[in-house]
Amino acid sequence: MLVLAGLDPGGGAGLQADIQTLTAAGVHAMPVVTALTVQDSRNVRRVEAVSPALLAEQLACLLADVQVAAVKIGLLGEAAQIPLIADWLQRLAVPVVCDTVLRAGGGTDLANAALLDALRARLLPCVTLATPNAAEARRLLALPPDAPADTLAAQLPAFGCANWLVTGGDEAGDAVSNHWYRADAAAQHYVWPRLPETFHGAGCTLASAIAARLALGHDLAAAIDEGQRWTQAALAGAYAVGGGRRVPNRLGIRS
Ligand code: PLP
Repeated sequence: MLVLAGLDPGGGAGLQADIQTLTAAGVHAMPVVTALTVQDSRNVRRVEAVSPALLAEQLACLLADVQVAAVKIGLLGEAAQIPLIADWLQRLAVPVVCDTVLRAGGGTDLANAALLDALRARLLPCVTLATPNAAEARRLLALPPDAPADTLAAQLPAFGCANWLVTGGDEAGDAVSNHWYRADAAAQHYVWPRLPETFHGAGCTLASAIAARLALGHDLAAAIDEGQRWTQAALAGAYAVGGGRRVPNRLGIRS
């Protein structure tokens, strides 16, 4: 499976989260770096994009050789990466899961206006399932931060891609509610017990867990269901690597 994402030197989020999640599912990861980052377990300080030329060269070299069963996209370095990625997605014609990473859990903004525009116009139309958290979904739709959930339900299915799994881990409430909004069927809702800790790399883990199951041939409903279940277990076993948020336990790491 092809993964396009950023490198977190702390190993909590980004490509390491993706590689561990795919490995746990028995899926081979082909990790293409979109950006290097400066961060700790609390927050992202800086993102340094890989040049579009280097990214294009890597993809051309790799994809001339390998078969890809699915693609997972995470943090993108800059807007100029998006057209070349979108062109490849159209050519590959396999399931694509995109975790629309717009803000780090610690608060740093990870998307400027150009990146948002390119995501909306070029990338999302090539995506099978997008997995924003509720705040990211509101931002993609240019809604105010307090826009109610039914506005998302009404607007997302017609916006960009056909399937959205909007996650509620960062919203208030005793439980975590995730919502699958889709163009061709009624919305589906999932409720999970809220765990006491906060996590770094939860979104990457969930999107990769779903993408891995699509790569294995599961249908979207089964992949979304099982991907959430597996991620919840990884979060329940999370461990601390630093003074900030905990890292999901994706491979039975001893803490
Ligand atoms: N760093 C990288 C490379 C990421 O891909 C992401 C999220 O996808 C983050 C940091 C932020 O992760 P979190 O918001 O879970 O802390």
